[in-house]
Amino acid sequence: MADYYETLGVPKGASADEIKKAYRKLARKYHPDANPGDAAAEERFKAIGEAYDTLSDPDRRKQYDSFGRTFRPGQGGGFQGADFGNAAAGFDLGDLFGGLFNRGGRGGASAGPRRGADVEAQVSLSFEDALRGVTVKVPVDKANACPTCHGSGAAAGTAPTICPVCKGRGVTSESQGFFSINQPCSRCAGAGTVIEHPCPTCHGSGRVRSTKTYQVRIPAGVREGTRIKVRGKGEAGPRGGEPGDLYVVTRVAPSPLFQRRGDDLVLDVPVTFSEAALGGQVELPTPDGGTVRVKVPAGSTDGKTLRVKGRGAPKLNGGGTGDLLARVRIAVPGSLSKQEREALEKLQEIERSDHGDPREKLFQERAG
Ligand SMILES: [Zn+2]
Ligand SMILES: [Zn+2]
Repeated sequence: MADYYETLGVPKGASADEIKKAYRKLARKYHPDANPGDAAAEERFKAIGEAYDTLSDPDRRKQYDSFGRTFRPGQGGGFQGADFGNAAAGFDLGDLFGGLFNRGGRGGASAGPRRGADVEAQVSLSFEDALRGVTVKVPVDKANACPTCHGSGAAAGTAPTICPVCKGRGVTSESQGFFSINQPCSRCAGAGTVIEHPCPTCHGSGRVRSTKTYQVRIPAGVREGTRIKVRGKGEAGPRGGEPGDLYVVTRVAPSPLFQRRGDDLVLDVPVTFSEAALGGQVELPTPDGGTVRVKVPAGSTDGKTLRVKGRGAPKLNGGGTGDLLARVRIAVPGSLSKQEREALEKLQEIERSDHGDPREKLFQERAG
């Protein structure tokens, strides 16, 4: 697998801004909507998303820089994500061994079927769908409960029996002087039960690999890399163990108009010199497809931001809506008509006589 920095084409010391810019450019280029049916582009798109997912999060980037790729759900690790957001700040030992010894129970290591692994699936969303929320079909290829034995692993008409070695404890103890060392039982691999007559479909594991498709509700306001936890839709646990969880990670296509900044959306608004100087009304597109009229105050300078309350992105936790930030961009015409040229030359004359050279005073002040 390629290095995340290489994937995004940025140097190792790249700033957050550079990473974001590189990601935007690549994501637009390789987005499935722009490359219908192109599997290579989709793979690339996923890789770009995964790289950005890690490098855009300061904690995860630090971890990646020090340790490289960490455990991912579905690879036996315990990369614990929050229901929403990107709180995947690492893993702890309890989670790391969560798959080996069932959590809780007597003395930490209890007998019984093990929990299935968490799995991760990505969904590609349009910018608009990410804002308004959408229900998507998510196909997940994973270990599911065997349909023949319903996950028990035992052939029809039989049932697993208590393991004769560990007597159902799942662990064996070995005394060494003062210490006693607990190990998963080698006969039943910690399950506590053994299967005398294995199910012919799954050969006793209780699981078969197949693709299941889930309808997942993506809440309004998700961002690039939001992780949505779908409880119990991960891999089935071996021999009827509790299933893991499914994490749906959102990949959001960039918008040609709006930039996401938290829950606010930034929109560049071209304004002519005369509109900026005299002030005026401008009509702006809103992310919901509507429009809103905004007053540009007289004397607006390039880069001035006009805040339109409540017309940004919905907040994920249901707490209202962000704002639309309209950024004034003074547009200088590339070519002038004769009339415009004459008017501007006249204006320049007046400017000079009224205000003098605009640079003179400023530069003299700076020079002390
Ligand atoms: Zn089976
Ligand atoms: Zn045993």
